[in-house]
Amino acid sequence: MYKCKLCLKESDSKVCKSCLEKIDNDLVIYKTTNFISFAPLYSPVYYAVLAYKNLKLVEVGKVFANNIKKVNLPDKLIITYIPCSYKRYRKNKVDHMALIGKLLEDKDREVIKLIDRVDKLSQKDLKKDKRKLNRFKLNNINIDDRDILLIDDIITTASSINECYNLLKENYNNKIIRLALIY
Ligand SMILES: [Zn+2]
Repeated sequence: MYKCKLCLKESDSKVCKSCLEKIDNDLVIYKTTNFISFAPLYSPVYYAVLAYKNLKLVEVGKVFANNIKKVNLPDKLIITYIPCSYKRYRKNKVDHMALIGKLLEDKDREVIKLIDRVDKLSQKDLKKDKRKLNRFKLNNINIDDRDILLIDDIITTASSINECYNLLKENYNNKIIRLALIY
């Protein structure tokens, strides 16, 4: 028996069924031409996403992946993601957004890691004025003309997703759709 990591009630998995149902019910697809999101900052779902990334709650990732599948997206897609920090990767042994990407894969939708981190040091180790510079780099992979879905977890200042979007835009002519779980 576990205790649900979200509501602390007894559960047969890390997150109980009623919490997963609640997250699923709370998600609302917000979609413009090139941007998709599911819930606002500081909503209950926001805290569920924080728990997902900090505690590797795969079940929560699956709820999001299932909702992303309901969005009207191009059939043929390259899915790419904003890589998590090295620190988080070392802790979790998995990149939580790569995991969601993998859950979206099918014969026409492929995950390709187009972007990498350059900051092997933690952000705190870098001087404040350098934080913005070159946090990401392209992996220089040749791709075809499929649309690119760029996925991220939480947009607060939007600096990460903008930096990655601009990197992609400068180097590929493909249409790029941005997706954030929380906005
Ligand atoms: Zn629960």
